[in-house]
Formats: sequence, C-alpha cells, structure tokens
Amino acid sequence: MTGSGGAVASVDPVASQVAIDVLKKGGTAADAAVAATAALNVVEPYATGMGGGGFFVYYDAKNKQVKTLDGRETAPKSMTETSFLEADGTPMNFDKAVNSGLSVGVPGNPAIWQAALDRWGKRSLTDMLAPAQRIAERGFVVDEAFSAATADNAKRFSMFPATAAVFLPGGEPVQPGTVLRQPDLAKTLGLLRKDGIDALYRGPIGKAVVDTVNRPKTVDGVTVPTGGMTTADLHAYRVLRKDPVVSSYRGMEVYGMPAPSSGGIAVAEILNLMSAYEKRTDTATSATDDVQYLHRFADASATAFADRNRWVADVEGVPVKELLSSGFAAERACGFDPEKAAARPIAFGEPDGSYTSCGPVAPGKTGGVNEGSSTTHLTVADKWGNVASYTSTIEAFGGSGMVVPGYGFLLNNQLTDFEFTAPTKGVPHPNLPAPGKRPRSSMAPTIVLENGRPVFAAGAAGGSTIITTTAQILLGYVDRDLTPVGAVAAPRISSRNTGATAEARIIDTKTGAALKAMGQPMTKAEAIGRATAIAMPARGVFTPAVEPTRGGGGSAMVVEPRKR
Ligand code: GLU
Repeated sequence: MTGSGGAVASVDPVASQVAIDVLKKGGTAADAAVAATAALNVVEPYATGMGGGGFFVYYDAKNKQVKTLDGRETAPKSMTETSFLEADGTPMNFDKAVNSGLSVGVPGNPAIWQAALDRWGKRSLTDMLAPAQRIAERGFVVDEAFSAATADNAKRFSMFPATAAVFLPGGEPVQPGTVLRQPDLAKTLGLLRKDGIDALYRGPIGKAVVDTVNRPKTVDGVTVPTGGMTTADLHAYRVLRKDPVVSSYRGMEVYGMPAPSSGGIAVAEILNLMSAYEKRTDTATSATDDVQYLHRFADASATAFADRNRWVADVEGVPVKELLSSGFAAERACGFDPEKAAARPIAFGEPDGSYTSCGPVAPGKTGGVNEGSSTTHLTVADKWGNVASYTSTIEAFGGSGMVVPGYGFLLNNQLTDFEFTAPTKGVPHPNLPAPGKRPRSSMAPTIVLENGRPVFAAGAAGGSTIITTTAQILLGYVDRDLTPVGAVAAPRISSRNTGATAEARIIDTKTGAALKAMGQPMTKAEAIGRATAIAMPARGVFTPAVEPTRGGGGSAMVVEPRKR
C-alpha cells in the first residue's frame, strides 16, 4: 500500500485503525503511536502494555532531529547481583524466574506515552487512551492466533487466579470467535485518563503493582519467587531522554537506540562489517549472490553479538564511538573468509582505539542468551514528516504471567534480561543485576535519514533476533533491491554467535546447503522476528510494510491511499 497524509504499520488492524483515526483528526505520529500502543495493550496484551516498557525513536520534522525515549523497565532498589541465584549460588531456573514477582521491573510504557505526548504531541493522554478504553469495554473478537497463544500459556496463567479470570474463562483458553471484554483493564485505562500516569507511579495502580510483585496471588499449593518493589521505586521511575546512536551507511544516517538497548549499536556494527567485508573482498554487497550475502550477514551478526554481549549494557562508559568506528570494523573484519564461516563462538573485540591487530581469535564466552520472543514494533508517520519507531514489550509472551488483580493488565518479566551470573567466573559482566539498573535489550527501533530527510523506519519483535531481523530488512531494502514489503517478507537467517537459526526458505534450499558446507551453523526456526516498517520514497509519500504471514501477518494503512 502506498499513499499520503500519514501511515501506520502495526501487527494488528484494530491498532492500525486507531492510529489512522488519530492521524486523520490532525494528531501527530507521536499521538498516533501512543493511542495505537494503548490499543495493542488491549488486543495484543501478551506482547505489550502498561505493565511493560520500551524504546521510542522519533524524527521531529520541526527541529529536523532524531531523539529517543528510554522507557526500559527498571530493577527495584532491593535488587542485587545475586538476586537470581539460589541459596547454593547456582543460577535460578529460567522459567521459575519468569513466572515470579522477582522478574518484574518498574514499568516504563506509561511514562513513554506521557513524555512522547508532552514533547511531540498535540493531543492529551486522556484523549489518546479513549479508543483503548472503549475496545477494552466493548471487547474484541479473539482469533485463532490469540486463542493458541493463550493455550500455550494456559499452564502458567492457571497459577495466578487474576490471570486465569481474564484469559482462561471457565478454566479454558478463550476460544476463537469469542468477544473478549476486559472490564478491569478498561477501568485502569479510565484511571490513567482521569489522573494521568501518576495513577500508576504515585497512586492506586502502583500500590496494586507493588502488592502483586511482593506477594504474588497464586492458587493453593503454588508458590513463586517474590520481588522487593516499593512505591518509592515507582516514584523514582524516570523515562530518559537520550540522543540516538547514529552511524552512516551508503551515505545515509541510521539512527537507533543507545544502551541499555544493544539494538542500535549492534545493527550499526553489522552494517559497518558488511561495508568492511566489501573492502576486503572487493565485491559490493549488492553484487553478491544469496549464498555469499547470507554468509557475510551471518558472520557480521555473530561478530556484532560477541561485541554487544561483552560491552553493551546499562553501565557507564559503553565505548559506543569505538564500537562504531571504521577502524574497529576493519579490525573485526580482518579474519573474514568469503569461503568459510568464522569458528563459533567468536571472541569479543577490544574497542580500544588501536586497530592494528587482527583481533582475538580465541573462542569467547560472552553470555546474552536469556531473551524471549514477545514484543511488538509499531511504525507511524504523519503528514508533517514526523516519524515514530516504537518497540514495546512485556518481555516473554504473556510477561510474568501475572495480571494485577482488579486492574486487568499483565506485568512484565523484563528483569530476566539480566545475566543471572557472570558467564566467565571472575570476569565482571556489564549486564548483571543491580539496584535501579535497566536490563540490556535487543530492541532496535530504527529511523534512516538521507540528505536530512527520513526515508525508512523499521523495527521488530523477537528477542535477540530483533537485531538480525532489523539489519536484514535495512540491507534488503537498501542493497538487495527489495520493495519495502519484500524486505520485510524475505526469508531470514539469525546468527547470534551462541545461537544460530534460519527459516525453512533458507535452510531447506540449495542456499542453505551451500551455507552449511561453508560451516555456517544453523538450526531451523519456524519464523524469525516479526517486523513493521514504513518507506518514505519521496516527501509526503508513504509505503508502510508488514509481515504477510509471520505471526499471522500485520496491518499496513495510509491516510489517503494512492489511486490506482
Ligand atoms: N526482552 C527483549 C528485549 O528487550 C524483548 C522481548 C522479546 O522480544 O523477547 O530485547
């Protein structure tokens, strides 16, 4: 679809329609992004919502600048480096940590909503939450995918009576075709509309969150780890305004999210490595066949993962400039072999400003495996040229599994994105838990500018595969001559150093066989990532793009469709 007046790409037609309605009535991309994400809280409650957090990247057409909001969930003051260890010092079982109060971080999405409206909106939070409240009251029709996702989660949801009451009516997963009404969620949205986000950060919603985290209400005979959150943790929560990470690729500026997300840095490093491989091999990416392209991409992404796992987290002094320097990329690319995959795991590099060596070759252990596959990415553009690229999440699909009793929304389990223990004994790791710290993320909301004008925006869901999905879409659109939807739909590979997957359309073909023969590690994955994007080929022209099939597809809409 192509058109003018503004556009949206989301995973759900109800949410996309909410965004289009806001744009039609003169709202900005920021207004529409807030209204649509609140609607996703209702129709995609397992992927995102007010109980979670996210990262918001915005092109502000008036100031011609890209800025970001970091609304990552934050560890309570009581959290320590050993919070995810058992009494005997061993790391806690991952599922045990997920389904608990311990993994719940202070939510950040409501703070993003208010900050985005304050800074870039023309509408009030009261107005932007109205559609979501209405949908929660009236209900939405459950589809096959939602019912199946509920069934997948039924066992853990049944541990928490408040969750079962919403999603397992009569003890069974909500069935396709039923109208799911969420009166508690509607009431909570009403409280936010009336009293603002203070209803959460300083009011009754927050008290109920704290109570749920510290004393999870489970069915008889089930106990789960408890958290140590206080109302002071909620008061102290701040959405952080940050300058984006920016790198250049083919004369374009690629803007992404800085730490605690590793998304912006890792995507940029992958693109830098692709450029460095071109120099080493004297063959442009655009001139490579599928096998060579995917081989390069797999080695580049595995290398970027080694580096982000070692260097990027919510700590002081992340060496961003060095990680994104051409010297570092050249050093990291120096061992690239166009005929043979680099041995895994690739060791991390040293972004120390001196790039004369060929980098370490010893295998490295860099951690970074604890990421789920939930989340949602929303891309919106308006008629003034503003662009919002917003990835939000409650971490696992269904988050911690705990609905706040009486308030109807799921709490995140984002703190399981911390390393539970240092991967190498004795070597301090930047992503260990600490009081007030934000766990490292892979979310990669991205906006690309050419000659100062936004030309493309994209992002994805899918845990650590978010990074490889987003980078592949950018490369597909820029270098592989794909249409926006072609770039989103193209088969994906995801080499993450400690894990590597590819979709059947790669692994089960001659291309896959050739990659295997070169030593590229891969196991089959049904679907990698779930993305949305908007291309802006000329000023005022929008081509939103969504998944045709992955995750049941998405919904792309424009304000005024171009006449055919
Ligand atoms: N926790 C993940 C991250 O922040 C997102 C959730 C997911 O997609 O699994 O990177």
